[in-house]
Amino acid sequence: MILYLDVDGVLIPGPDDQGDPPPTHDIHHVTPTGYDKPIKVWLNPHHGPQLAALVADTGLTPVWCTSWRQDASRLIAPCLGLPDWPHVSLPRLPLTTSHPNGYLWKRDHLIQHAAGAPFVWIDDDFTSADHEWAAARVAGGQPTLLVQPQHRVGIQPQDLWTVRTWVSTHRSDGWRQQAEH
Ligand SMILES: [Mg+2]
Repeated sequence: MILYLDVDGVLIPGPDDQGDPPPTHDIHHVTPTGYDKPIKVWLNPHHGPQLAALVADTGLTPVWCTSWRQDASRLIAPCLGLPDWPHVSLPRLPLTTSHPNGYLWKRDHLIQHAAGAPFVWIDDDFTSADHEWAAARVAGGQPTLLVQPQHRVGIQPQDLWTVRTWVSTHRSDGWRQQAEH
């Protein structure tokens, strides 16, 4: 079972009306691939240990699914003390919206990556079409959980508990055995 994790709006919440990050988050300066100078990001130092514990306790396989792509592991993870996780190879499309077809553009690429495995997907940018799609997957017997933090708030402890509860429910249903095949 896979845990797909977004960065912007999840680990890096959007700034407030004054352009400021939440007081819970520390400022870092990182230079993304293709940039010639650093940009400012903000991260909550508690999120690293919380996510590491989530992965250790649930057995979920963490995979970044973010427009940060490989920079999530290269730049974001070290700020949080997280190890080198794989990422979904998202193409660089000339998108003007996150939902060019009414649903989150990452979705088709994530499905390819998941290759039928059950998954949890944490992203701030789902539409109602994504939630309907996830419900249809569940109805079809494919365990799927979408967790959607608010963009300006980011991931919260209750989101992680939602994931833990869901995993423990499905573990008792025997998903682990299915996932290992
Ligand atoms: Mg996002």
